[in-house]
Amino acid sequence: MGRIDKGAKCSVSGCVREAVRSLSAEKVKAAGLKVGSEKKAYLCKEHYKEYKKKTRKDRQLEKWRYSG
Ligand SMILES: [Zn+2]
Repeated sequence: MGRIDKGAKCSVSGCVREAVRSLSAEKVKAAGLKVGSEKKAYLCKEHYKEYKKKTRKDRQLEKWRYSG
């Protein structure tokens, strides 16, 4: 996981940028990004940033939930 073919395009609907990361499509969908039905999702730099931001937020929410 993580490595991608050169020239792969971002899987997010409407995005045409070059992908820098491949992730499980399930995880990407859970983060709220719109990707196709393939098992793997390719993300460009911008969408990967967005993905990381959203997963970080989720983790914080979980912390609150379990600490409260
Ligand atoms: Zn993208």
